[in-house]
Amino acid sequence: MKILLWFVAMGLIGRLELAAADKKIVLVAGRPSHGPGQHEHNAGVQLLHKCLQGVPGVTSTFHLNGWPKDPRAFDGADTILFFADGGGGHPAIQGEHLQILGESMKKGVGLVCVHYAVEVPKDRGGAEFLQWLGGYFETFWSVNPHWDAEFKEFPTHPITRGVRSFKIRDEWYYHMRFPENMKGVTPILTAVPPDSTRGTTDSTHGSNPHVRARKGMPEHVAWAFERPDGGRGFGFTGAHFHKNWGDENFRKIVLNALLWTAKVEVPRDGVDCPITAEDLTKNLDPKGK
Ligand SMILES: [Zn+2]
Repeated sequence: MKILLWFVAMGLIGRLELAAADKKIVLVAGRPSHGPGQHEHNAGVQLLHKCLQGVPGVTSTFHLNGWPKDPRAFDGADTILFFADGGGGHPAIQGEHLQILGESMKKGVGLVCVHYAVEVPKDRGGAEFLQWLGGYFETFWSVNPHWDAEFKEFPTHPITRGVRSFKIRDEWYYHMRFPENMKGVTPILTAVPPDSTRGTTDSTHGSNPHVRARKGMPEHVAWAFERPDGGRGFGFTGAHFHKNWGDENFRKIVLNALLWTAKVEVPRDGVDCPITAEDLTKNLDPKGK
């Protein structure tokens, strides 16, 4: 009996040690904001969480409908993801949140922002996002058209492991505000948008002279960032449409980026997470939101 108890105790300790060694990924989903199938923050984050369950060396937690209610949510985090509405409503810029997040960033915690979560106001969060994420959507500088982006080649980077060329329609924001001379930034997804997406008249999100001057030129819609202090960031402008998570390459890039920003070795062929059509119907926001 004693021996049996000893084995049980050792087994538990062993498991605790394993868990302690795991890197912690914290996923934050914003509140519902768009029609069905769009900006499905809660469903998207739970899909990523499900995919991370099979990945050795990581544990993940998720928080739905906005900034975590648990004040200890970011304790021990190795990387934090936001998939939420941004701009003035970005969960990360409300109240004291930028300062709270800044404490994690100072410790080298990674930051991943998906879709609208890459946008913060220039004068509230802009400077911080440049330092933490290596870029952000700046109004009157960046644009948010819907278009079919074709990604044909990728840089050699842990985030692109196992990723093959793909083409997909999304609200791919582009012409982000990046640091001067792209310092620390590695573009991960780059494509040439149709000239029609550059618009004709100035507006906050639709068009501006800088974007119109770049007709025919390639634009970056996802990027990796290495901060001078070693922390890492990743911005990904797609995922307006929930169904796009059904694309293996689309999904793999974000999953690889979660590992990379948490400083976990990305598998040679990237994070493999087969999902079914049914998985894409789970956890969707209630209709009418
Ligand atoms: Zn959108």
